[in-house]
Amino acid sequence: MRKLILAAALAATTLTAGTLQAKEAPTAGTRDVEMWRLECGGIHLADGATFSDTHLFDGQPRALAGSCYLIRHGDDYLLWDTGLPKSLIGAPTSEHGVSLSLESSIVDQLAQIGVDPKAISKVAVSHYHFDHTSQLPDFPNATLLISEKDWEVVNSREEGIPYLVRSAFDPWLGQGAGKVETIAKDHDVFGDGSVLIKATPGHTPGHNSLLVRLPKTGDVLLTGDLYHFQEQAFAHSVPQYNYSRVLTLSSMSRFDETAKVLNAKVVIQHDPGHVARLPAFPKSAQ
Ligand SMILES: [Zn+2]
Repeated sequence: MRKLILAAALAATTLTAGTLQAKEAPTAGTRDVEMWRLECGGIHLADGATFSDTHLFDGQPRALAGSCYLIRHGDDYLLWDTGLPKSLIGAPTSEHGVSLSLESSIVDQLAQIGVDPKAISKVAVSHYHFDHTSQLPDFPNATLLISEKDWEVVNSREEGIPYLVRSAFDPWLGQGAGKVETIAKDHDVFGDGSVLIKATPGHTPGHNSLLVRLPKTGDVLLTGDLYHFQEQAFAHSVPQYNYSRVLTLSSMSRFDETAKVLNAKVVIQHDPGHVARLPAFPKSAQ
């Protein structure tokens, strides 16, 4: 009798282990995930002083790349950040020492790789600043993923919030608007651990970064605007206009440690020197 009970217990254990195994997330090498870096504009500053509260860039002209990323997960597509406005194409601007330009839209770049904008089911923004959100209205049917805290800012009635252009969020604001998924902390975008939004607040109240776990390339960490330039990563220098220096430093510490533990490839989205860390469009990282 005892043997029978033991056998039954063992069978149950095996069954449970088998069931658990079937539900486990795919291992790194078998994930069906692919990522493209999209050109999303250029920013030139006559003086980079405001990008450091420790005088790191005083008097230095600085160039910033505008980067967006398309991530394919099986048949699903996620867009991470949506760049500068399309109105800049063929009409660059220059005002108060800041020059903005854009060569081609996200939709045009998607066409080059045969992706219908309607196939983008999710669009996530690292934060609410206009250089990361301006082409959002081209994806009105996608679910918008944004941090709870940044969404509060977008929905507030406060006027004159620096770098916020509310009209970019029109498809998701008001009655009958598009679907919004607000994120309180970290978020597993596809539920299998392959694409993870990481809370890195400080630049804005709810700023986020993104970890993409690619089958061949390995782990890639996209900074959002946690860092703008490689030099900041060494100096832990914080832009003067950040929401919170304390939160930024804490986020930098967590981000750096995550990158170290995972041996991840870090891509500073605005650093022109980091553009080549991913294959040049239309090639993808796999
Ligand atoms: Zn930015």
